[in-house]
Amino acid sequence: MEVIAEAIEPLYVTRPLLPDMARVTEKLKTVWASQVLSNGGEQHLLLEQQLKAFLNVPELSLFNNGTTALMVGLRALGLQGEVITTPFSFPASTHVLSWSGITPVFCDIDPVSLTLDAAKVEALITPRTTGILGVHVYGNPCQCDALASIANQNGLRILYDAAHAFGTEVNGRSIAEYGDLTMFSFHATKLFHCAEGGALVCHNPELKARIDLMKNFGIRNEFDVVMPGINGKMNELQAVMGQLVLEMVRDEQAKRKHLRQQYTAYLQGVDGIRLRAVPNNTRDCQQYLVVEIDESLFGASRDAVFLTLRRHNIHARKYFYPLISDYPCYRDLPSASPAALPMARLMASRLLCLPFYGDLAETSVARICELIQSCQQGRVNGGR
Ligand SMILES: *Cc1c(COP(=O)(O)O)cnc(C)c1O
Repeated sequence: MEVIAEAIEPLYVTRPLLPDMARVTEKLKTVWASQVLSNGGEQHLLLEQQLKAFLNVPELSLFNNGTTALMVGLRALGLQGEVITTPFSFPASTHVLSWSGITPVFCDIDPVSLTLDAAKVEALITPRTTGILGVHVYGNPCQCDALASIANQNGLRILYDAAHAFGTEVNGRSIAEYGDLTMFSFHATKLFHCAEGGALVCHNPELKARIDLMKNFGIRNEFDVVMPGINGKMNELQAVMGQLVLEMVRDEQAKRKHLRQQYTAYLQGVDGIRLRAVPNNTRDCQQYLVVEIDESLFGASRDAVFLTLRRHNIHARKYFYPLISDYPCYRDLPSASPAALPMARLMASRLLCLPFYGDLAETSVARICELIQSCQQGRVNGGR
């Protein structure tokens, strides 16, 4: 039985959208003819326009990846000293602080949104604090209004990491309207991608102009280099990929929405298992499907479920375990103390991301959910 199961094709948590190759080739012919491969060519310009329209935002700068975009964002906002952030995220959201010579200050998360608990932010502000780096984790919007008022009262800037929130809307408006700057990642694992890529969204053309200088070595023109910049430019091949993937996003979201309904149907009524949902006023972008496993009700731990799925070649992911504050490079910071981050710890022990991409078959969803339930009933004893 186990041997047969293992022969089945592995299922991963996501699968990148891949445009029709003939169309990619067709577009690449234009690039070949132009002999321009980077430095803000025609494809870059086109993608920038298309993304501004899709996301309904005023100003957007493309980047070679989301991490560089975050680093440029921190610098463009003049952040230094200490920045308050979440330990419940992908490593990049804290590493960019460290790489910029900024001390990360971890703040616990709120149990509903899983983002920075705004009620706990103020107590962490010191004379060295210059900003807040919030992450719209799993596409759940941060407590943006509360964070904005804290920032206003204390003279702080806000940079949002929206790597999981491409196209997320709150009350009918883009999530990128919040904060001073918002970063999107276009890595292959993200809903919309350019293989690698990213963007910064801001609210005024002056800031966009500064960001565009920063991502191109500070070069204003042939003879003027006006600031110490970096190379954060998206190239023409990435921009071609992005244009074609963007055409597929709405359809992919619809398919994922349907899959979410299937998962819900299979798992509802199972004690101790809960599909995490986004708030009512939010249009979810369908980046992840997250279940919360409460061991005391379910009768098996998240880790037990994870291992059972893995034995059957289903690669669910424990996002975000371990917490960033537990990495050896951060665990000695005063704010990394486990006692100060109880909710982040609890969620890191309970949450599991399940396979979630448009082409996932309903039979696979059924199989995944059966395996999960079998942990509860002790039918899968786990031995190989
Ligand atoms: C993917 C991701 C990033 C990094 O983006 P890259 O484009 O891979 O550099 C940053 N933050 C979060 C939360 C992410 O999921």
